[in-house]
Amino acid sequence: MNFAGKVVLITGASSGIGAATAVKFAKYGACLALNGRNAENLKKVADECSKVGQSPPALMVGDIAKEADTQRIWTETLDKYGRLDVLVNNAGILETGTIENTSLEQYDRVMNTNLRAIYHLTMLATPELVKTKGNIVNVSSVNGIRSFPGVLAYNISKMGVDQLTRCVALELASKGVRVNCVNPGVTVTNLHSRGGMDPETYEKFLEHSKSTHALGRPGDVSEVAAAIAFLASDEASFSTGVSL
Ligand code: NDP
Repeated sequence: MNFAGKVVLITGASSGIGAATAVKFAKYGACLALNGRNAENLKKVADECSKVGQSPPALMVGDIAKEADTQRIWTETLDKYGRLDVLVNNAGILETGTIENTSLEQYDRVMNTNLRAIYHLTMLATPELVKTKGNIVNVSSVNGIRSFPGVLAYNISKMGVDQLTRCVALELASKGVRVNCVNPGVTVTNLHSRGGMDPETYEKFLEHSKSTHALGRPGDVSEVAAAIAFLASDEASFSTGVSL
């Protein structure tokens, strides 16, 4: 795969799947704009990308759950590169909770980060992607397809991401813009511990996850990054509205 000369904006690139995706695109020669809230972590990922890539990534520190930050991230990306070829909507959070103990505040936080921000960034990026015949890869989850107990807001947000993917794929196909998503099963990152899972519960959860995936193991971030890069590449030129 070759992304030389292509501009790729990745949200949530400061850790986990987003960080691995950034390094993957860097290896394939992309010009990168990397977003995350934690500037220090983002810088470390950018340094990794610089070692394997053509040019140092531009850092877009900001909270995509805040409209003003998302607007600024978008404006700065366009100011820096003047175009966009690929948008990877990866940033996400998980909060544990059921209908009995998920507050509206938690619900809003998850929905604003996992779904509303994708909607906003997609709105902003669409005119540029139409110009470049670019594409979008959304990072959904197996929770977008199946419901899992104990992560209610997360389930709802990811089902929304899947629907958004399919709808916008239909809307933009005639303009040459592809929109796809990945729906990874449990992948080893900090997502669950950050979402309130203590280490012991996380170990049990990882163990249990082996029985919920046909391959009998959790995923590695590099495997998800590979799927994202494939969908964004010309190799997937006949794929839109699909999930991997
Ligand atoms: P991590 O917690 O490692 O990464 C999440 C990333 O999102 C971080 O870079 C974080 O950056 C960023 N982020 C979170 N909130 C915001 C925000 N408001 N503004 C900007 N950046 C934000 O978890 P993963 O790598 O696992 O998660 C990445 C995506 O993969 C998520 O959408 C998640 O739902 C999805 N996913 C994960 C699975 C898993 O099992 N791990 C399975 C299926 C899907 P920072 O800390 O700098 O704010």
